[in-house]
Amino acid sequence: MIIWGLRTVMVQLGVAWLVCPNCRNHCAQVYREHQRKFTLFFIPLFTTSRTTVRQCSMCGASYRVGPDELRWAAAQAVGTAYPPRVG
Ligand SMILES: [Zn+2]
Repeated sequence: MIIWGLRTVMVQLGVAWLVCPNCRNHCAQVYREHQRKFTLFFIPLFTTSRTTVRQCSMCGASYRVGPDELRWAAAQAVGTAYPPRVG
């Protein structure tokens, strides 16, 4: 019997201080990459898809973002402790 499946792994890319589109507060926005992994016998073998998500630390609202916004957020966060990593 072969046991296979999919698992989502979240990788934190960084934090930028921006205005949240939902709650309108200027607060930390956490950028994460959700990596969908194919597993065989519970061992992740390769990534099948990647999605970048921005989550507000104040209200918890999350949004899917593209590479352009990630680059923009990284540029806004230059000089901060943990700017989002691009690419
Ligand atoms: Zn918010």
